[in-house]
Amino acid sequence: MSLFDYFEPAPPFGCHRPGCIGTLTRWQGQHSNTACSFLWRQGLLSPADQLVPQRIKAKPDKRSMFRLPSNAAIHAYGATCDTCQAYARFDIECETDAEGLWISTKIQAKIAASRVIEREWIQCMNCYDAWRRIEGKRLYLCPTCEGVIQQ
Ligand SMILES: [Zn+2]
Ligand SMILES: [Zn+2]
Repeated sequence: MSLFDYFEPAPPFGCHRPGCIGTLTRWQGQHSNTACSFLWRQGLLSPADQLVPQRIKAKPDKRSMFRLPSNAAIHAYGATCDTCQAYARFDIECETDAEGLWISTKIQAKIAASRVIEREWIQCMNCYDAWRRIEGKRLYLCPTCEGVIQQ
């Protein structure tokens, strides 16, 4: 078994590539010696699934006993876009509460503020570059300063 688990933030992060409205999936993180390719979903106390062959999967009642460490910040990385297969250009940190419930997710990257101009353009407030906005797309990587922009 691998030594990491998979993490699924809710809501998920969109792909950073210009023009792509896919979603970044399969974040990988290490948190303890009990990592067994579980799929953790933000807001659920126990793993949603286990991404291993059926014959070595833990039974659902056993899987439901597992918890993330409490009050932890779990580093996860290596996500890929479900549409264009690009690798995420940033890492995330999954924060748990006292029960080990995953309650929030932070992007670990340089974050840039932005504004929308004439409803069609997004401008990075870090370097003032601007580019065309895409309907339904919520996350952009500034092409000039590589700041992460969330709309
Ligand atoms: Zn993509
Ligand atoms: Zn910029």
